Amino acid sequence: MKLLIKLSGESLSERGGDGSFYAEPVLERIAEQIRALQSQGHQIALVIGGGNLFRGHKLTEKLSIERPTADYIGMLATVQNALILRDYFQTKGIATRVSSAIAMPQICESYIPKRALRHMEKGRIMIFAAGLGAPYFTTDSTAVQRALEMGADMLIMAKNGVDGLYTGDPKKNKRATFIKSITGSKVLEQNLKAADQSAIALAKEHGLTIKIVGVDMIKSALETKIGSVILPE
Ligand code: UDP
Repeated sequence: MKLLIKLSGESLSERGGDGSFYAEPVLERIAEQIRALQSQGHQIALVIGGGNLFRGHKLTEKLSIERPTADYIGMLATVQNALILRDYFQTKGIATRVSSAIAMPQICESYIPKRALRHMEKGRIMIFAAGLGAPYFTTDSTAVQRALEMGADMLIMAKNGVDGLYTGDPKKNKRATFIKSITGSKVLEQNLKAADQSAIALAKEHGLTIKIVGVDMIKSALETKIGSVILPE
């Protein structure tokens, strides 16, 4: 299968750790999960977020800078994360390429869809950086767009600290219940926090299935007993 995995920036830093942006044990666990999934014979691409460093709207709230500027800074954060992941994977023997939606020829490839597909066919992990290259979007929307453009069979959203989709935030609300399977329309209707609404809407419109799993369950993401599934209809 061809799989697109969305990792949030926060999944690169240690939960409850010293607040540093990256934690080696976390990178190690992610690399192991990706290696194990790949060894099942799948082609894999990743979209990485930047929330461990910057989120555009938070920067705008904190500083008097315009939203587009803050968003570009957020996109640069995703490139930083992508480079860390690439080099970490490479040192672990996992062939990886980064492609950025904003051209930075000294640092990584620019996003050329056919080239990315070729890397995946050759068994390389493809990391998509800089989101969609445009402000007012998030890496959730990027993940859906790239999954569609790469012809992925499924989008796997790897979440930090939760094992799937709940009716509320299980860390804050003890009465939140686990949702095993739901349609995109219901997620939107009930305003569930699976991913950005625009990302869910895009997936639904184009028939993309989304699986939500904990970041430590990536390698088992295709098992039906693991995680939650959002069906297009
Ligand atoms: N961003 C953007 N356009 C995109 C993708 C990302 O403007 O296509 C910016 C936006 O400011 C966002 C930040 O990059 O807050 C980091 O991405 P995101 O918040 O999605 O990261 P995550 O929460 O997944 O770590």
